[in-house]
Parts: sequence; C-alpha cells; structure tokens
Amino acid sequence: MMTYSYISHLSCSVCDLTFDDHEINQLCSCGAPLLVNYDLAKMKETTNKSDIGNRQPTLWRYHELLPIRNEENIVSLGEGMTPLIQTNKIGEDMSLNRLYIKDEGIIPTGTFKARGAAVGMSKAKELGIKQMAMPTNGNAGSAWSAYATRANIKQTVVMPNDSPEITKKECQLFNADVHIVDGLINDAGKIVKDHINDTGKYDVSTLKEPYRIEGKKTMGLEIAEQLDWTMPDVILYPTGGGVGLIGIYKALKELKEIGWVTGKLPRLVAVQSTNCAPIVKAWENGDTHSTIWKNSETIAFGINVPKALGDFLVLEAIEKTNGCAIAISDEDLLEEQQKVAAEEGLFICPEGAAVFSAARQLKQQQWIHADDVVICLNTGAGIKYPNTFDVDLPILNKNDRL
Ligand SMILES: *Cc1c(COP(=O)(O)O)cnc(C)c1O
Ligand SMILES: [Zn+2]
Repeated sequence: MMTYSYISHLSCSVCDLTFDDHEINQLCSCGAPLLVNYDLAKMKETTNKSDIGNRQPTLWRYHELLPIRNEENIVSLGEGMTPLIQTNKIGEDMSLNRLYIKDEGIIPTGTFKARGAAVGMSKAKELGIKQMAMPTNGNAGSAWSAYATRANIKQTVVMPNDSPEITKKECQLFNADVHIVDGLINDAGKIVKDHINDTGKYDVSTLKEPYRIEGKKTMGLEIAEQLDWTMPDVILYPTGGGVGLIGIYKALKELKEIGWVTGKLPRLVAVQSTNCAPIVKAWENGDTHSTIWKNSETIAFGINVPKALGDFLVLEAIEKTNGCAIAISDEDLLEEQQKVAAEEGLFICPEGAAVFSAARQLKQQQWIHADDVVICLNTGAGIKYPNTFDVDLPILNKNDRL
C-alpha cells in the first residue's frame, strides 16, 4: 500500500522531548513550538521527484511531506502551486537580471495564510477536533474561518478593531464566531488564552499548533520544483510571526536530505517594517531572541507582530543560511507597490511591496548581486487593501470629448 504521509512524530524546537502526532498537541511543556518530523530515509526509497510533476497543481502534490495520514481528512479549496513569474521590468529597474515574484495573491482568501489553514485544518479534522479559537490581525482569521466552515469545525476569532474591514466581513461570512477587541493583537491573544483555559478549545494561535508551518513550508517546495529542482540564491520574506520563513527553511532542508536538491541553501531575508522591527533589531544586535516592539504601527498589517513566539527560529534560519534582516518604511513600500503595479501589472499587497523594496535596497548595498536568482514572496493580493492609496480622477460630463 502507498504511504500517504511519512510523518513520524513531533519534536520540541528547544528541548529533547518528542510527541505522538496521533494525539492533540499544542506547545511543548517547556513552552516552545513543536516541529513535525518525517521518516525521510524511507520516503527517499519510495518516492521520486519525477512523480510529483504529474499530480494536481495544489500543495497536496507534496503529501508525503505533509502531516495528514489519511487522504480523506484533507480540507481543500484548491490552494497552492501559485505562479513563479519573472519580473523583468522591475528587475531591470533594480539592476537585477533574475528577479522573480512568487505570487500568493491568487490563493483562496487572497493571502498565503490559506496554506497554513488548509494543512492545519486538515490535521485538526484528522484529530477529531470540533472547536478552535485564535487571535488574528485579519488574514489568518479569514483563511482559518473559510477552512473551518468547510471542515464543519467551529472557529472563534478575536481581532483588533483596526483590523481591515474586509477581513472582519470575511470571518463573519464564513460563519465564524467573531469578536472585535478595543485593543491590539496581544490583547486579542489574552482574551483567546483565557477563553481556551475556560473551554478547552483547540488553540490555533500562530505556532501554538504544529501544523501551520507545514502548510507554509510548501512555498519552499514549490519554489524548488518551479526552478526545476534547483535552489535560488536569495528568498525575501515579509516577516511577522515568521512562520513562512521557518517553513521555507524547513522545506529546503528536507528536500536536501532526500536528495531532490543539492548545494547551498538560499540566503533567507526577513523583511519587516521600520515601525515594527523586533527581528531586525535582534539580528543587528546579534541576539538569539527578540524583545517586544512598543507602539508598533504599519500599513503592512500582516507583519505588525511586536513579538513572535518563533523569533529564535527565524533568527536561526537567517544565520544558518547567511541571510539577513532588513526594515522598510511605509513610504518606501507604498512607492514600490505602485511601481510594481505600473510596470508588471501586479497589484501586490503592502507586505509583498516591502519585500521588493528590500530587494532594491539590498542590491544597492551590494548584498544582492546582479546575477543572483532572487525570489520576492508576495504574500497576498493588493485588492484586499483598498485603502493603501487614493485615486483622484477628473470626472467628465456626459457630452465631453477626451
Ligand atoms: C501574516 C502575513 C504575513 C506574515 O507572515 P508570518 O508567517 O506570520 O511571518 C505576511 N504577509 C501577509 C499578507 C500576511 O497576512
Ligand atoms: Zn520543549
């Protein structure tokens, strides 16, 4: 019989404890996030990378490296295999010859949060979970609410009042139990924590369940496959909780271990906002952990995370790959967003625009070289953020001529 998943167990990202994935797990008893392990040696014997190309264009094409044991538990909206497109004009503008966008804007619910939600929700279904809760700045809530309703799981979300209107509406439309807090994401987090203590619901806060990383890691698997099983030189990622970056790093290490890619890992770049840059600050200070960023504020709300539970994993990934961390101002990212739209026909989200601006600045600093293969991760659709800029167009009278 074919093995659908080569998952073997969970292990703590800090201490030596291991856990059984047939049971419901959250954080380790030491407080650190858990990571999924696979029997890669066995997988290597039975699966070839040439098998993958014939499969459906969704992230489930990598099911051997995903944590769902039984295919029947998969909850899908057709997510994954987003386009990897060369952006020549903006590349030329930055003096980069091989600049690509990995465009997550066309995924269900309009952001790459769908990847984490699809895999996390499928595993929750496999574990028999009926109720879950999470704090969110918006995009995660919308993605998890969409998949929850599809999985017949009751989702409770708590979000700050200044979360984007569209994400509040999405959660409500997807039939979640939505609550708005007059406060910030950490206030929402506290309310969720108390609610979970009171009710015993499954906690799907960032990194408090082990499977969201596995969903997000598929971006790394796709990039390698789309580059014909080679690795790029640089991947830039807009970093909030850092789950995507941790995931991409994990994916590429797994691919190396099974021998599907060889050579050096790409230099991973954590891109943040100048008004919320805890990881950048820790990186510059040579620290292994970040400290909470006070009064954070940025138009790129997906990366407005003052303190990430997995900060040390992000810092480790950028250190081990000779990467770096860089902060971008709202002004610079807005300018970049308009350039990318005008030159490439791509309406990227502000977080994605921060990444393009980072590529430009790192090229100017000669940290990126002209012939490097550079991947900018655009994590969402610009159309989810209708208020990032205004239009001021003249209005014609009906009988006017142009
Ligand atoms: C959540 C989010 C991010 C940050 O993702 P992390 O994995 O938490 O670092 C970036 N961009 C968008 C659009 C997001 O919604
Ligand atoms: Zn531990």
